[in-house]
Amino acid sequence: MPRVVIIGSGLVGAATALALHRVGIESTLYDQVDPVEVVMKGEVIEFGETGGSVMIQDGGLRVSKCIANGAIVRCISWSKIDGSYPIVSDSRISAKSANDSELELHPPLQILRSTLHSILIKACHKAGIKTLIDKKLVDIKQDEMTVTASFADGSTATGDLLIGADGIHSATRRKAFGDELKAKFAGSTGHVGVTNIKEHGIVLKEAEECAFYTDRENKRTVSVFKVSQDIVAVNVSTFGDTEDYDTSAFYRPSTDLPKDASQLADLLTTWGAPQHVANMVRHSFRLSTYSVYDLPNLENYHKGRVILIGDAAHGMVPNAGIGLLTGLEDVGTLLALFKHFKQEDWNTAFRLYSKSRVARGVAASEQSRSMREKGLAVSPIFGGSLNHFIFRLVIAASNAGFFTLYQVFDCEAEVAKLIQEERE
Ligand SMILES: Cc1cc2nc3c(=O)[nH]c(=O)nc-3n(C[C@H](O)[C@H](O)[C@H](O)COP(=O)(O)OP(=O)(O)OC[C@H]3O[C@@H](n4cnc5c(N)ncnc54)[C@H](O)[C@@H]3O)c2cc1C
Repeated sequence: MPRVVIIGSGLVGAATALALHRVGIESTLYDQVDPVEVVMKGEVIEFGETGGSVMIQDGGLRVSKCIANGAIVRCISWSKIDGSYPIVSDSRISAKSANDSELELHPPLQILRSTLHSILIKACHKAGIKTLIDKKLVDIKQDEMTVTASFADGSTATGDLLIGADGIHSATRRKAFGDELKAKFAGSTGHVGVTNIKEHGIVLKEAEECAFYTDRENKRTVSVFKVSQDIVAVNVSTFGDTEDYDTSAFYRPSTDLPKDASQLADLLTTWGAPQHVANMVRHSFRLSTYSVYDLPNLENYHKGRVILIGDAAHGMVPNAGIGLLTGLEDVGTLLALFKHFKQEDWNTAFRLYSKSRVARGVAASEQSRSMREKGLAVSPIFGGSLNHFIFRLVIAASNAGFFTLYQVFDCEAEVAKLIQEERE
């Protein structure tokens, strides 16, 4: 029976353990923090760095439990910071152009990160998958057949395979692939709040349920994501100053955002944000802070008996909203490979995993970088209005079905193609 060590019990680590369980491979999750206890007690998980919500574009985890606990996003809108000149994208058309075969699931799913994590962790618990906590990975050693993880508490874990699902600052990546492979601060920080809109009498029109309000000139964005009938996540971010940041044309320094919800709401009012958006921030019952990082493109996601998955492999700026989706595609690909390859052929499986996923991961990172740059770009003569207008044309083309930003990734078909290519 193969032994698999998974470092990181975040969204992708937990999904990986469940996928392996489906093909009869038992694994153990190791994490530096303890999500399990919190979830089993029925409490809400606070994700300091990346709280709030995630959007799962079609092709991602569309199981009924997630759909029942999230909100389907029929349209996405982009406006100026005060809500004027909205550009509305029809998610059903863009998903259809992306080749989604499940018609009723065309629009993306928006769900609270803590809700999704609870679903996954509970499923792991039910499947008997163990999560060991206070296990901060500090080193990895491997020989031809086994790999050993060492943790800060002095303990070790040995397996036939180690999967690094430990996020954008992955210690697995640094220890097994090279210490220089670090994520860089990408220049922006923000706060994400969670608000019960029903309680505060805030009503959203359909186009406001997933909405981005941007001040291109001052590099500020407020975004709203409805995650259930009553709950929204509201995200306030600015492009800030940093020592590490590679200054480029769209860089501007800005002041730090206040952590207090009322002060932040007052600030949004001075920015000219719509009153109902400022109100959502004012009534946030949970405000978590995040910083945005970008990981340089890697050439390989496997080294010997170590595999990288999720943000550990391709952590990216969040502007395209496809970081988690790309991680879930990794999981699906690994699952399809393990269905086909027995343990004695794992080296081939790992090679094919890298071959397939590096191309997709790099493409997703590049797309996210490009959307970030374009989303904040300002024309030297006409200001941000010209860029907003150009974006309107792009979305009009997308709504007419001429254009799509991504293609659904069929993991099974991809693996079948890779195996066929191997045989030829
Ligand atoms: C503001 C923001 C908004 C986003 N919105 C979207 C969106 O709408 N749609 C989308 O698809 N993606 C989105 N993303 C990206 C998405 O959040 C990530 O791709 C996803 O969370 C990655 O999951 P992961 O499991 O790979 O890593 P993580 O969620 O970072 O989990 C890593 C786990 O590893 C553990 N760990 C770390 N280091 C160690 C160590 N040394 N030892 C042991 N354990 C360790 C951590 O405690 C954690 O539990 C967004 C990201 C940000 C920042």
